[in-house]
Amino acid sequence: MALIVQKYGGSSVADAESIKRVAKRIVDTRRAGHDVVVAVSAMGDTTDELLDLANEVAPIPAPRELDMLLSSGERISMALLAMAIHSMGFEARSFTGSQAGMITDSHHGAARIVDVTPVRLREALDEGAIVIVAGFQGFNRDTRDITTLGRGGSDTTAVALAAALGADVCEIYSDVDGIFTSDPRVIPKAQKLDHISSEEMLELAANGAKVLYIRAVEYARRHGVLIHARSTFSSSEGTYVLGEGMKNPREAEGAAAMEEPIVAGVATDFGQAKITVAGVPDVPGKAAEIFKIVAKSGANVDMIVQNVSAASTGRTDISFTVPKADAAAALKALAAEQSEVGFENLVHDDQIGKLSVVGAGMRTHSGVSAILFEALSAGGINIEMISTSEIRISVVLRDTDLAEAARTVHSAYGLDGESDATVHAGTGR
Ligand code: ASP
Ligand code: MG
Repeated sequence: MALIVQKYGGSSVADAESIKRVAKRIVDTRRAGHDVVVAVSAMGDTTDELLDLANEVAPIPAPRELDMLLSSGERISMALLAMAIHSMGFEARSFTGSQAGMITDSHHGAARIVDVTPVRLREALDEGAIVIVAGFQGFNRDTRDITTLGRGGSDTTAVALAAALGADVCEIYSDVDGIFTSDPRVIPKAQKLDHISSEEMLELAANGAKVLYIRAVEYARRHGVLIHARSTFSSSEGTYVLGEGMKNPREAEGAAAMEEPIVAGVATDFGQAKITVAGVPDVPGKAAEIFKIVAKSGANVDMIVQNVSAASTGRTDISFTVPKADAAAALKALAAEQSEVGFENLVHDDQIGKLSVVGAGMRTHSGVSAILFEALSAGGINIEMISTSEIRISVVLRDTDLAEAARTVHSAYGLDGESDATVHAGTGR
Protein backbone atom coordinates (compact mmCIF):
# COMPACT_ATOMS: atom_id res chain seq x y z
CA MET A 1 0.00 0.00 0.00
CA ALA A 2 1.34 3.36 -1.00
CA LEU A 3 0.43 6.94 -0.17
CA ILE A 4 -0.29 8.74 -3.40
CA VAL A 5 -0.82 12.49 -3.79
CA GLN A 6 -2.73 13.46 -6.92
CA LYS A 7 -3.16 16.97 -8.30
CA TYR A 8 -5.89 17.78 -10.78
CA GLY A 9 -5.65 21.02 -12.77
CA GLY A 10 -8.54 23.28 -13.72
CA SER A 11 -9.05 21.65 -17.13
CA SER A 12 -9.50 18.26 -15.42
CA VAL A 13 -12.40 19.50 -13.26
CA ALA A 14 -13.96 21.98 -15.68
CA ASP A 15 -17.57 20.74 -15.31
CA ALA A 16 -19.73 18.19 -13.46
CA GLU A 17 -18.91 15.43 -15.95
CA SER A 18 -15.17 15.99 -15.55
CA ILE A 19 -15.48 16.05 -11.78
CA LYS A 20 -17.20 12.66 -11.89
CA ARG A 21 -14.47 11.30 -14.14
CA VAL A 22 -11.78 12.53 -11.74
CA ALA A 23 -13.72 11.09 -8.79
CA LYS A 24 -13.70 7.71 -10.52
CA ARG A 25 -9.96 7.90 -11.04
CA ILE A 26 -9.42 8.71 -7.39
CA VAL A 27 -11.71 5.89 -6.30
CA ASP A 28 -9.87 3.46 -8.60
CA THR A 29 -6.61 4.40 -6.88
CA ARG A 30 -8.24 3.85 -3.51
CA ARG A 31 -9.65 0.49 -4.65
CA ALA A 32 -6.14 -0.55 -5.63
CA GLY A 33 -5.37 -0.28 -1.93
CA HIS A 34 -3.63 3.07 -1.71
CA ASP A 35 -4.12 6.04 0.56
CA VAL A 36 -5.02 9.04 -1.55
CA VAL A 37 -4.59 12.75 -0.94
CA VAL A 38 -5.80 15.06 -3.69
CA ALA A 39 -4.94 18.70 -4.37
CA VAL A 40 -7.45 20.27 -6.71
CA SER A 41 -7.47 23.48 -8.78
CA ALA A 42 -10.47 25.70 -9.39
CA MET A 43 -12.87 24.56 -12.11
CA GLY A 44 -11.84 25.54 -15.65
CA ASP A 45 -11.26 29.28 -15.96
CA THR A 46 -12.80 30.14 -12.60
CA THR A 47 -9.70 31.94 -11.31
CA ASP A 48 -9.57 34.16 -14.42
CA GLU A 49 -13.27 34.91 -14.13
CA LEU A 50 -12.93 35.85 -10.47
CA LEU A 51 -9.99 38.11 -11.34
CA ASP A 52 -12.07 39.82 -14.03
CA LEU A 53 -14.89 40.34 -11.54
CA ALA A 54 -12.48 41.85 -9.02
CA ASN A 55 -11.16 44.25 -11.64
CA GLU A 56 -14.70 45.32 -12.48
CA VAL A 57 -15.43 46.45 -8.96
CA ALA A 58 -12.02 47.94 -8.20
CA PRO A 59 -9.14 49.08 -10.43
CA ILE A 60 -6.62 47.75 -7.91
CA PRO A 61 -8.33 45.17 -5.70
CA ALA A 62 -7.11 45.02 -2.09
CA PRO A 63 -4.66 42.10 -1.95
CA ARG A 64 -6.20 40.57 1.17
CA GLU A 65 -9.67 40.57 -0.34
CA LEU A 66 -8.38 39.30 -3.67
CA ASP A 67 -6.95 36.25 -1.92
CA MET A 68 -10.27 35.72 -0.11
CA LEU A 69 -12.00 35.81 -3.48
CA LEU A 70 -9.58 33.66 -5.47
CA SER A 71 -9.29 31.00 -2.78
CA SER A 72 -13.04 30.41 -3.12
CA GLY A 73 -12.52 28.86 -6.58
CA GLU A 74 -10.72 25.86 -5.10
CA ARG A 75 -13.30 25.52 -2.30
CA ILE A 76 -15.97 24.93 -4.91
CA SER A 77 -14.07 22.19 -6.72
CA MET A 78 -12.89 20.45 -3.53
CA ALA A 79 -16.41 20.18 -2.10
CA LEU A 80 -17.92 18.99 -5.39
CA LEU A 81 -15.19 16.40 -5.78
CA ALA A 82 -15.75 15.09 -2.24
CA MET A 83 -19.51 14.85 -2.95
CA ALA A 84 -18.90 12.95 -6.17
CA ILE A 85 -16.68 10.49 -4.31
CA HIS A 86 -19.31 10.04 -1.56
CA SER A 87 -21.92 9.20 -4.14
CA MET A 88 -19.65 6.41 -5.36
CA GLY A 89 -19.75 4.93 -1.89
CA PHE A 90 -16.39 6.10 -0.60
CA GLU A 91 -15.51 8.31 2.32
CA ALA A 92 -13.94 11.62 1.31
CA ARG A 93 -13.28 14.81 3.24
CA SER A 94 -12.37 18.19 1.81
CA PHE A 95 -10.13 20.74 3.53
CA THR A 96 -9.23 24.33 2.80
CA GLY A 97 -5.57 25.27 2.67
CA SER A 98 -5.63 26.52 6.25
CA GLN A 99 -7.44 23.43 7.54
CA ALA A 100 -4.81 21.34 5.77
CA GLY A 101 -2.02 23.19 7.59
CA MET A 102 -0.55 25.04 4.60
CA ILE A 103 1.31 27.75 6.49
CA THR A 104 2.69 30.54 4.30
CA ASP A 105 4.35 33.91 4.63
CA SER A 106 2.04 36.92 4.45
CA HIS A 107 2.73 37.89 0.83
CA HIS A 108 -0.78 38.06 -0.67
CA GLY A 109 -0.98 36.79 -4.22
CA ALA A 110 2.47 35.17 -4.16
CA ALA A 111 2.79 33.58 -0.75
CA ARG A 112 5.53 31.05 -0.05
CA ILE A 113 4.93 27.91 1.95
CA VAL A 114 6.93 28.06 5.19
CA ASP A 115 5.51 25.02 6.97
CA VAL A 116 3.00 22.24 6.43
CA THR A 117 1.20 20.79 9.47
CA PRO A 118 -1.19 18.20 8.03
CA VAL A 119 -2.58 16.98 11.36
CA ARG A 120 -6.19 16.85 10.20
CA LEU A 121 -5.21 15.15 6.95
CA ARG A 122 -3.43 12.39 8.84
CA GLU A 123 -6.45 11.88 11.08
CA ALA A 124 -8.71 11.62 8.06
CA LEU A 125 -6.35 9.16 6.37
CA ASP A 126 -6.16 7.08 9.54
CA GLU A 127 -9.94 6.93 9.52
CA GLY A 128 -9.83 5.57 6.00
CA ALA A 129 -11.02 8.68 4.21
CA ILE A 130 -9.83 10.03 0.89
CA VAL A 131 -8.48 13.52 1.51
CA ILE A 132 -9.21 16.44 -0.82
CA VAL A 133 -7.30 19.70 -0.32
CA ALA A 134 -7.97 23.04 -1.97
CA GLY A 135 -4.90 23.89 -4.05
CA PHE A 136 -3.19 27.25 -4.37
CA GLN A 137 -3.99 28.59 -0.91
CA GLY A 138 -2.61 28.84 2.58
CA PHE A 139 -2.77 30.71 5.85
CA ASN A 140 -0.42 33.16 7.56
CA ARG A 141 -0.01 32.77 11.30
CA ASP A 142 0.85 36.41 12.07
CA THR A 143 -1.91 38.10 10.10
CA ARG A 144 -4.28 35.10 10.49
CA ASP A 145 -5.33 35.72 6.90
CA ILE A 146 -5.88 33.51 3.87
CA THR A 147 -3.15 33.73 1.23
CA THR A 148 -2.72 32.39 -2.30
CA LEU A 149 0.47 31.00 -3.78
CA GLY A 150 0.41 32.68 -7.21
CA ARG A 151 -1.02 31.47 -10.50
CA GLY A 152 -0.62 27.76 -11.04
CA GLY A 153 0.05 27.31 -7.33
CA SER A 154 -1.87 24.05 -6.97
CA ASP A 155 1.15 22.14 -8.31
CA THR A 156 3.10 23.50 -5.35
CA THR A 157 0.32 22.57 -2.93
CA ALA A 158 0.45 18.99 -4.17
CA VAL A 159 4.23 18.71 -3.94
CA ALA A 160 4.26 20.30 -0.47
CA LEU A 161 1.62 17.82 0.72
CA ALA A 162 3.59 14.93 -0.75
CA ALA A 163 6.71 16.12 1.08
CA ALA A 164 4.97 16.67 4.41
CA LEU A 165 3.14 13.33 4.32
CA GLY A 166 6.09 11.36 2.96
CA ALA A 167 4.08 10.25 -0.09
CA ASP A 168 5.50 7.66 -2.47
CA VAL A 169 4.68 9.74 -5.53
CA CYS A 170 3.05 13.05 -6.48
CA GLU A 171 0.97 12.57 -9.62
CA ILE A 172 0.24 15.82 -11.45
CA TYR A 173 -2.72 15.41 -13.79
CA SER A 174 -3.46 17.84 -16.60
CA ASP A 175 -4.74 17.72 -20.16
CA VAL A 176 -1.37 16.80 -21.69
CA ASP A 177 0.20 13.34 -21.63
CA GLY A 178 3.42 14.24 -19.84
CA ILE A 179 6.59 16.15 -20.53
CA PHE A 180 7.66 16.30 -24.14
CA THR A 181 11.01 16.93 -25.81
CA SER A 182 9.40 20.18 -26.99
CA ASP A 183 5.99 21.84 -27.27
CA PRO A 184 4.05 19.51 -29.61
CA ARG A 185 2.07 22.47 -30.90
CA VAL A 186 5.32 23.97 -32.23
CA ILE A 187 7.10 20.71 -33.07
CA PRO A 188 4.70 17.95 -34.15
CA LYS A 189 7.48 15.36 -33.93
CA ALA A 190 8.09 16.06 -30.23
CA GLN A 191 8.08 12.88 -28.14
CA LYS A 192 6.86 12.19 -24.65
CA LEU A 193 9.79 11.63 -22.29
CA ASP A 194 9.84 8.57 -20.06
CA HIS A 195 11.66 10.57 -17.39
CA ILE A 196 13.63 13.76 -16.98
CA SER A 197 15.91 15.02 -14.22
CA SER A 198 14.50 17.80 -12.08
CA GLU A 199 17.42 20.07 -12.96
CA GLU A 200 16.65 19.68 -16.67
CA MET A 201 12.96 20.23 -15.96
CA LEU A 202 13.77 23.44 -14.11
CA GLU A 203 15.83 24.77 -17.03
CA LEU A 204 13.08 23.87 -19.51
CA ALA A 205 10.40 25.49 -17.34
CA ALA A 206 12.51 28.62 -16.83
CA ASN A 207 12.94 28.89 -20.59
CA GLY A 208 9.39 28.61 -21.78
CA ALA A 209 8.09 25.07 -21.14
CA LYS A 210 4.73 25.38 -19.40
CA VAL A 211 3.78 21.89 -18.26
CA LEU A 212 4.97 22.15 -14.66
CA TYR A 213 5.43 25.18 -12.48
CA ILE A 214 8.99 26.07 -11.54
CA ARG A 215 8.23 26.53 -7.87
CA ALA A 216 6.66 23.09 -7.63
CA VAL A 217 9.67 21.45 -9.31
CA GLU A 218 12.05 23.37 -7.03
CA TYR A 219 10.11 22.30 -3.98
CA ALA A 220 10.13 18.69 -5.15
CA ARG A 221 13.87 18.83 -5.79
CA ARG A 222 14.59 20.26 -2.35
CA HIS A 223 12.37 17.78 -0.52
CA GLY A 224 13.02 14.68 -2.59
CA VAL A 225 9.48 14.29 -3.97
CA LEU A 226 9.00 12.06 -7.02
CA ILE A 227 6.71 13.76 -9.57
CA HIS A 228 4.74 11.86 -12.19
CA ALA A 229 3.23 14.25 -14.76
CA ARG A 230 0.38 12.55 -16.62
CA SER A 231 -2.97 13.04 -18.35
CA THR A 232 -6.44 12.92 -16.83
CA PHE A 233 -7.81 11.99 -20.22
CA SER A 234 -5.87 8.81 -20.84
CA SER A 235 -4.69 5.88 -18.78
CA SER A 236 -1.19 5.87 -20.27
CA GLU A 237 1.75 6.61 -18.05
CA GLY A 238 3.30 10.05 -18.22
CA THR A 239 6.76 11.37 -17.37
CA TYR A 240 8.67 10.95 -14.12
CA VAL A 241 10.63 13.95 -12.86
CA LEU A 242 13.58 12.56 -10.93
CA GLY A 243 15.44 14.44 -8.24
CA GLU A 244 19.06 13.82 -7.38
CA GLY A 245 19.79 10.16 -6.71
CA MET A 246 16.21 9.07 -7.48
CA LYS A 247 15.64 5.91 -9.46
CA ASN A 248 13.26 5.75 -12.37
CA PRO A 249 10.41 3.57 -10.97
CA ARG A 250 9.99 1.89 -14.34
CA GLU A 251 13.61 0.76 -14.33
CA ALA A 252 13.21 -0.52 -10.81
CA GLU A 253 10.51 -2.80 -12.22
CA GLY A 254 13.19 -4.58 -14.22
CA ALA A 255 13.34 -2.78 -17.54
CA ALA A 256 16.86 -2.30 -18.85
CA ALA A 257 18.41 1.02 -17.91
CA MET A 258 18.18 3.29 -20.90
CA GLU A 259 21.14 5.27 -22.10
CA GLU A 260 20.60 8.88 -21.14
CA PRO A 261 20.29 11.19 -24.14
CA ILE A 262 22.67 14.17 -24.18
CA VAL A 263 19.82 16.59 -24.84
CA ALA A 264 16.51 16.27 -22.99
CA GLY A 265 14.52 18.90 -24.79
CA VAL A 266 14.16 22.10 -26.78
CA ALA A 267 12.17 24.96 -25.27
CA THR A 268 10.69 27.91 -27.12
CA ASP A 269 9.76 31.23 -25.56
CA PHE A 270 7.80 33.91 -27.40
CA GLY A 271 7.38 35.98 -24.25
CA GLN A 272 10.62 37.97 -24.17
CA ALA A 273 11.45 41.47 -25.45
CA LYS A 274 14.87 42.97 -26.14
CA ILE A 275 15.96 46.36 -24.92
CA THR A 276 19.12 47.99 -26.26
CA VAL A 277 20.75 50.84 -24.39
CA ALA A 278 22.75 52.45 -27.18
CA GLY A 279 25.80 54.69 -26.92
CA VAL A 280 26.71 53.91 -23.32
CA PRO A 281 30.01 55.54 -22.21
CA ASP A 282 32.49 52.65 -21.99
CA VAL A 283 33.73 53.37 -18.48
CA PRO A 284 33.54 51.27 -15.31
CA GLY A 285 30.24 51.35 -13.44
CA LYS A 286 27.83 51.93 -16.32
CA ALA A 287 26.48 48.37 -16.45
CA ALA A 288 25.95 48.53 -12.69
CA GLU A 289 23.98 51.78 -13.05
CA ILE A 290 21.85 50.42 -15.87
CA PHE A 291 20.95 47.12 -14.24
CA LYS A 292 20.25 48.78 -10.91
CA ILE A 293 17.69 50.97 -12.65
CA VAL A 294 16.19 47.98 -14.45
CA ALA A 295 16.04 45.92 -11.26
CA LYS A 296 14.28 48.75 -9.43
CA SER A 297 11.63 48.84 -12.15
CA GLY A 298 10.82 45.24 -11.17
CA ALA A 299 11.87 43.80 -14.55
CA ASN A 300 13.44 40.38 -14.52
CA VAL A 301 16.53 40.41 -16.78
CA ASP A 302 17.37 37.23 -18.64
CA MET A 303 20.09 37.50 -21.30
CA ILE A 304 22.65 40.28 -21.54
CA VAL A 305 25.05 41.16 -24.34
CA GLN A 306 27.55 44.04 -24.42
CA ASN A 307 29.12 44.94 -27.74
CA VAL A 308 32.75 45.92 -28.14
CA SER A 309 32.93 49.69 -28.06
CA ALA A 310 33.80 51.67 -31.14
CA ALA A 311 37.30 53.10 -30.57
CA SER A 312 36.33 56.39 -32.18
CA THR A 313 33.47 57.13 -29.80
CA GLY A 314 34.42 55.25 -26.64
CA ARG A 315 30.80 54.17 -26.45
CA THR A 316 29.15 50.75 -26.48
CA ASP A 317 25.69 49.17 -26.75
CA ILE A 318 24.23 46.97 -24.05
CA SER A 319 21.30 44.72 -24.97
CA PHE A 320 19.25 42.57 -22.63
CA THR A 321 16.01 40.65 -22.62
CA VAL A 322 13.11 40.90 -20.18
CA PRO A 323 9.60 39.40 -20.18
CA LYS A 324 7.41 41.40 -22.59
CA ALA A 325 5.19 42.46 -19.71
CA ASP A 326 8.17 44.04 -17.89
CA ALA A 327 9.57 45.98 -20.86
CA ALA A 328 7.49 49.15 -20.54
CA ALA A 329 8.46 49.67 -16.89
CA ALA A 330 12.14 49.05 -17.63
CA LEU A 331 12.12 51.50 -20.57
CA LYS A 332 10.38 54.17 -18.53
CA ALA A 333 12.84 53.82 -15.67
CA LEU A 334 15.84 53.97 -17.99
CA ALA A 335 14.49 56.96 -19.93
CA ALA A 336 14.09 58.87 -16.67
CA GLU A 337 17.81 58.40 -15.94
CA GLN A 338 19.15 58.97 -19.46
CA SER A 339 21.21 62.06 -18.73
CA GLU A 340 22.44 60.64 -15.43
CA VAL A 341 23.78 57.46 -17.12
CA GLY A 342 24.79 59.33 -20.26
CA PHE A 343 23.61 56.88 -22.93
CA GLU A 344 22.43 58.04 -26.37
CA ASN A 345 19.14 56.22 -26.88
CA LEU A 346 16.92 53.25 -26.14
CA VAL A 347 15.64 50.66 -28.62
CA HIS A 348 12.74 48.34 -27.80
CA ASP A 349 12.26 45.18 -29.86
CA ASP A 350 9.48 42.75 -28.98
CA GLN A 351 9.64 40.70 -32.18
CA ILE A 352 12.13 38.22 -30.74
CA GLY A 353 11.94 34.57 -29.80
CA LYS A 354 14.18 32.50 -27.58
CA LEU A 355 15.24 28.95 -28.32
CA SER A 356 16.88 26.86 -25.61
CA VAL A 357 18.46 23.43 -25.76
CA VAL A 358 18.65 21.69 -22.38
CA GLY A 359 20.52 18.55 -21.42
CA ALA A 360 22.55 17.36 -18.45
CA GLY A 361 24.74 15.47 -20.93
CA MET A 362 26.29 18.79 -21.98
CA ARG A 363 28.50 18.60 -18.92
CA THR A 364 30.34 15.59 -20.22
CA HIS A 365 29.99 15.81 -24.00
CA SER A 366 31.77 18.29 -26.24
CA GLY A 367 30.39 19.62 -29.50
CA VAL A 368 26.82 19.95 -28.26
CA SER A 369 26.62 23.65 -29.10
CA ALA A 370 28.21 23.12 -32.53
CA ILE A 371 25.18 21.01 -33.52
CA LEU A 372 22.88 23.90 -32.66
CA PHE A 373 24.88 26.48 -34.58
CA GLU A 374 25.27 24.24 -37.61
CA ALA A 375 21.55 23.49 -37.71
CA LEU A 376 20.67 27.18 -37.53
CA SER A 377 23.27 28.05 -40.14
CA ALA A 378 21.99 25.35 -42.52
CA GLY A 379 18.51 26.80 -42.04
CA GLY A 380 19.77 30.30 -42.85
CA ILE A 381 18.58 31.54 -39.45
CA ASN A 382 20.32 34.52 -37.90
CA ILE A 383 21.33 34.48 -34.22
CA GLU A 384 21.09 37.75 -32.30
CA MET A 385 22.16 36.78 -28.80
CA ILE A 386 23.67 33.69 -27.19
CA SER A 387 23.85 32.60 -23.57
CA THR A 388 24.79 29.36 -21.89
CA SER A 389 24.60 27.67 -18.54
CA GLU A 390 26.14 24.38 -17.52
CA ILE A 391 23.30 22.37 -19.04
CA ARG A 392 21.67 24.86 -21.44
CA ILE A 393 22.37 26.85 -24.60
CA SER A 394 19.94 29.63 -25.51
CA VAL A 395 19.78 31.84 -28.58
CA VAL A 396 17.63 34.84 -29.40
CA LEU A 397 16.22 34.92 -32.94
CA ARG A 398 13.54 36.81 -34.89
CA ASP A 399 10.19 35.57 -33.55
CA THR A 400 9.13 34.65 -37.09
CA ASP A 401 12.11 32.25 -37.29
CA LEU A 402 11.53 30.56 -33.94
CA ALA A 403 9.15 27.73 -34.88
CA GLU A 404 11.19 26.71 -37.93
CA ALA A 405 14.44 26.97 -35.95
CA ALA A 406 13.02 24.79 -33.18
CA ARG A 407 11.97 22.08 -35.65
CA THR A 408 15.41 22.10 -37.31
CA VAL A 409 17.27 21.96 -34.02
CA HIS A 410 14.98 19.30 -32.53
CA SER A 411 15.72 17.12 -35.52
CA ALA A 412 19.46 17.86 -35.46
CA TYR A 413 19.70 16.52 -31.91
CA GLY A 414 17.92 13.33 -32.94
CA LEU A 415 14.86 14.08 -30.83
CA ASP A 416 12.23 13.61 -33.54
CA GLY A 417 9.72 10.84 -32.95
CA GLU A 418 8.68 8.46 -35.68
CA SER A 419 5.19 9.86 -35.87
CA ASP A 420 3.54 13.11 -34.92
CA ALA A 421 2.60 13.50 -31.27
CA THR A 422 -1.10 13.40 -30.57
CA VAL A 423 -1.95 16.85 -29.34
CA HIS A 424 -5.17 17.19 -27.41
CA ALA A 425 -4.75 20.94 -27.74
CA GLY A 426 -4.07 20.86 -24.03
CA THR A 427 -2.81 23.73 -22.00
CA GLY A 428 -1.00 21.64 -19.44
CA ARG A 429 -3.30 22.97 -16.70
N1 ASP B 1 -6.61 28.14 -9.80
C1 ASP B 1 -5.30 28.70 -9.73
C2 ASP B 1 -4.91 29.26 -11.09
O1 ASP B 1 -5.66 29.14 -12.04
C3 ASP B 1 -4.28 27.73 -9.25
C4 ASP B 1 -4.03 26.55 -10.15
O2 ASP B 1 -4.78 26.28 -11.08
O3 ASP B 1 -3.03 25.87 -9.94
O4 ASP B 1 -3.87 29.84 -11.22
MG1 MG C 1 -6.50 27.22 -12.87
